[in-house]
Amino acid sequence: MNRREFIAAAAVSPAALAGVGEQQPAGAPATARPLSITLLGTGTPAPSLERQSSGYLIEVGTDLIVWDHGPGAHHRLMESGHRTIDVTHAFFTHLHYDHCMDYGRLVLQRWDQGADRIPDLQVYGPPPIARMTQQLFGEDGIYGPDIRARVEHRSSLDVFEARGGKVPRRRPAPRVTEIHAGSVVEGNGWKVTVGHAQHVQPYLECLALRLDTKEGSICYTGDSGPSDTIVELAKGCDILIHMNHYFSGTEPSPAYRMACGNHRDNAEIARRAGVKTLVLTHLLGQIDQPSVREQIVHEIQNVFTGKVIWGEDLMRLTVAGARVSTIESRQG
Ligand SMILES: [Zn+2]
Repeated sequence: MNRREFIAAAAVSPAALAGVGEQQPAGAPATARPLSITLLGTGTPAPSLERQSSGYLIEVGTDLIVWDHGPGAHHRLMESGHRTIDVTHAFFTHLHYDHCMDYGRLVLQRWDQGADRIPDLQVYGPPPIARMTQQLFGEDGIYGPDIRARVEHRSSLDVFEARGGKVPRRRPAPRVTEIHAGSVVEGNGWKVTVGHAQHVQPYLECLALRLDTKEGSICYTGDSGPSDTIVELAKGCDILIHMNHYFSGTEPSPAYRMACGNHRDNAEIARRAGVKTLVLTHLLGQIDQPSVREQIVHEIQNVFTGKVIWGEDLMRLTVAGARVSTIESRQG
C-alpha cells in the first residue's frame, strides 16, 4: 500500500471508496430506477431507537431525493443501501428540528466525500431555509471554522486529493430555493407541487409535497392536521404519507388536533382525496402498540376502502402504475 492508498483507506469508508470514481459516478446512477419511496424515519421528536425522526427517500429516474431529514434519517439512508453522495435533491416541509436536524450531516458528509466531483445539492424549503443554510455553512456560520480548516490545512487537502479532488478546494454550496404553497419544482421526469399544511403557523411556514411522474404519484403531508388543502393536493394519488400522531379523542386541546393528525381525521382525508394507499407515519409510542395499532387500522378501514399501511423505518414502497408492488420492512 503506497502513501496515497493509505490516506484514502484511512479516511474513507470502504463502501464510499469502492464507489467514488471507480464503479459509478456519484449522483448519476447508470440506469433509471422505478419510482419508489423509502421511509427513513417514521417517529416523532421523542427519542426512539425503533423510529428515527422524519425522513423519506425517493428514487425517481436518475435522481435521489430526500423529503425532510430529521435526526437519524441520514443513518437510515445509509442502512437503506444508498450513499450520501448520491443524494441529488433535498426538500423540507417545515423547520421543526425533527424534520431538518440531519441537514448539516447530509451537506457536510456529501461535500467531504464528494471531493468537488459531484454537483452541489439542490435544496428546497420554506423560509428561513436560505438563512439557516448560511448560518450553518457560511464563513461566519456554525461550521465555518471546520470548513475553513478542511479547505486550508494540508492534512485535510491530502485526504481531499486522495479522493480525487483538485485544489483549491471549494466550500460546500447547497443551491437553495425557498418555496411556498403553490410552488412547482420540475426535475428530470418528475414534478413536485407544493401545498399548504396545517400545522404550527404562524411560527413556522408549513408545507406539504406531491410528486408526479408518468409512473405514479406520492403525496406527503409534512406534518398536518385535517385540512381541505391536503385533500386537494393528495387527490387521486397512489401513495399518501400522512402524519398519524395520536389516537383520536385523546387530544389535549382543539389546537393540538388542528396541528397534528389523528386517525379518524386521516381516514376522512384519505377517503375524500380518493388515494389508493394511505401510509401512517409520525407515530407516537403510545399508539405504537399491539391491539392499538390494529384498532386504528381497522377504524380507518371502516371509512377508507384503499390500502392502509402502518409505516416502519426502512419500509420501501414501489409505485408501479397504480399499485404498491413491493413492501420491504426491516421487521420482515
Ligand atoms: Zn412539525
